[in-house]
Amino acid sequence: MSQLSLAQIKAQLTPGRLKGVKRIIAVASGKGGVGKSTVAANLALALKKQGMQVGLLDADIYGPSQPLMLGVATDQQSEQAGEQGFEPIMAHGLQTMSMGYLVSESTPMVWRGPMASGALQQLLFQTHWQNIDYLIIDMPPGTGDIQLTLAQKVPVDGAVIVTTPQDIALLDAKKAIEMFAKVHVPILGLVENMAIHVCTHCGHQEAIFGEGGGMRMAEAYHTQVLAHIPLTKTLRMEMDQGTPTVMARSDSEEAKIFLALAERCVSTLWQQEKIGEQLPEIVMSED
Ligand code: ADP
Repeated sequence: MSQLSLAQIKAQLTPGRLKGVKRIIAVASGKGGVGKSTVAANLALALKKQGMQVGLLDADIYGPSQPLMLGVATDQQSEQAGEQGFEPIMAHGLQTMSMGYLVSESTPMVWRGPMASGALQQLLFQTHWQNIDYLIIDMPPGTGDIQLTLAQKVPVDGAVIVTTPQDIALLDAKKAIEMFAKVHVPILGLVENMAIHVCTHCGHQEAIFGEGGGMRMAEAYHTQVLAHIPLTKTLRMEMDQGTPTVMARSDSEEAKIFLALAERCVSTLWQQEKIGEQLPEIVMSED
């Protein structure tokens, strides 16, 4: 299949299943703390940098971290639009919506849990997304009932699974792959985060969480590793300061990795759709 540029793919994107949004990419992980939100924010910004209109929905009910990572003030409230609806909050040129705009840090977990899937669907369907090419959803970590319901009810076009190379995280990532397979959401690939630690002082590189795990798992599940992201102190600081790396240091090695990740996500999704269209339709006959 011939390779199209991102601009060519953008020009050919057809309307999607959600009003105002052409394609939805879920960023998920089998467990928390592996860098899912970091990847979601930088992936969204990398798509934006490459000419796409992008939205970011923070669906991580356990710890909605996008407001902090995008530098949106915690007291900023989403404006009500009409009877039922919210205007997205603009951050670094992204249309964003987050549970964090609606619940405070002290909101009890017991309340967040049961309301989660209902409220998230409301956020997704009642936000006034404007002409978005790709909506990135930062999913809640894990593979429990809430995640399964969301994967089922949200019209996701493709999923990116974030993991670290550590065995335990990989085991959890397997469960995430299987969860999306169960609800027929195509996997675009894995992102191996914290793959290599790069020392701030001497540049020495060390594979703190082991090597090659992501690649082995990708092979076992017939998918690909979309990116290997290094563990760097600067990246962590930039996220904490509300200016993700793609914005803070757009020429850095990490930013280049996120730009390449965005390109691979778009082209993989595009190719998977084209292959899907070419499959012969199965017609059931009576005899
Ligand atoms: P998750 O969404 O999976 O819970 P986060 O994206 O919130 O994980 O990341 C957890 C912490 O790790 C954050 O402080 C984040 O800045 C940091 N972090 C994530 N990826 C990296 C990385 N590649 N290098 C350095 N710090 C990272």
